[in-house]
Amino acid sequence: MTTLVPDLDLDRRGVQRGVAVSMQDGHIVAVGPPPEHAPIEELPGLALVPGFWNNHCHAFQRDLRGRTEQAGGDFWSWRAAMYELAARLEPDSVHDVARRCYRELVAAGYTAVSEFHYLHHRSTGLPYADPNAMAKAVVEAAEDVGIRITLLLVAYERDGHARFRDPDVATYLDRLEALSDWVEDRPLADVGAAPHSVRAVGREWLEAIAKSPFTPVSIHVDEQPREIEECIAEHGCRPIELLDRVGLLRPDVGVVHATHADGAELALVAAAGSNVCVCPTTEADLADGPVPTEALLESGVDLTIGSDSNVVVDPLAELREIELSARRATGRRGVVPLTVLLDAAWPFDVTAGAPADLVAFDLNHPSIAGIDDADLAAGLVFSGTPAAFTATWVAGRRVFGR
Ligand SMILES: [Zn+2]
Repeated sequence: MTTLVPDLDLDRRGVQRGVAVSMQDGHIVAVGPPPEHAPIEELPGLALVPGFWNNHCHAFQRDLRGRTEQAGGDFWSWRAAMYELAARLEPDSVHDVARRCYRELVAAGYTAVSEFHYLHHRSTGLPYADPNAMAKAVVEAAEDVGIRITLLLVAYERDGHARFRDPDVATYLDRLEALSDWVEDRPLADVGAAPHSVRAVGREWLEAIAKSPFTPVSIHVDEQPREIEECIAEHGCRPIELLDRVGLLRPDVGVVHATHADGAELALVAAAGSNVCVCPTTEADLADGPVPTEALLESGVDLTIGSDSNVVVDPLAELREIELSARRATGRRGVVPLTVLLDAAWPFDVTAGAPADLVAFDLNHPSIAGIDDADLAAGLVFSGTPAAFTATWVAGRRVFGR
């Protein structure tokens, strides 16, 4: 058993001082007064918070940093540059960039990542000897770093690059089943299904994936207006209405972006208990549009956050931008209750039974020094920086420290 004794714990319930956090076999087993006869690790001047959940990530896109910012154009021209990068990667180079990305994620306080992975086959489109070689290279990078990973194996039927596509949905589901078997004895790894978007996947594939046993499911939706126009032309309805018709709105489904979703679509997502994953730093970088914060709040949908293209890796920036989008649009402050932001960041509190996924931050860091306990959560979200994070534990193991 390992027992951490920080100055304070902070989670969705607020600040608790004078408590120690004991961890064993990957879980928190006790939170309370420090044990008298067990070894403890004192963390003077530090606070402990739950690990942040990164629910949408394309690790390889980290290698686009700086390269497209001055090129002009729009989302579609950025995508052309991204495809050029995607065409060049091989299992060893995708492992390398994923490891660099995940090292940065744990240093920024993320302890779990949902990796939306579509670099499947050789650049010619032919499969590798092991058709899941690329996905396995990414999972192994996560294991090297020690971050939890849900490898969302992407289904890609049409358009895009040849290496993204499988010839039919049965072949895709076979690959997913093989990958699911492969991760079974890997404690930090899990898999899920991910139809890329209604642009890249037609109705038959969506229905087959909805009927398959694989969960969770994640899909890009309503990121750009053109996708909505094309969906209406092809299916006679908007993208989220299509998901509803094919059985892909359920509690285990994450809808990524929803930047241009209308109120009726968001009401469907909320009624189904699906979540919306917003990625504000990427959505700003790609000129997708602001987070539709007021409409999301009105619908009552659950929110999650993602680092997406990894142009910035900073969960605090993603969270504060949900509120700041609304402030810019409305001229009002405090639009989003802080509890909504903390729920989007943290799937659990620092309590017995929760995974031992924790982050320490320096209460004396210049960005947050001098903030009262009652204001600390808001101070962290609106003024904090990952530079204040000094250590990260995943399943009780220290995976980052400075
Ligand atoms: Zn994405």
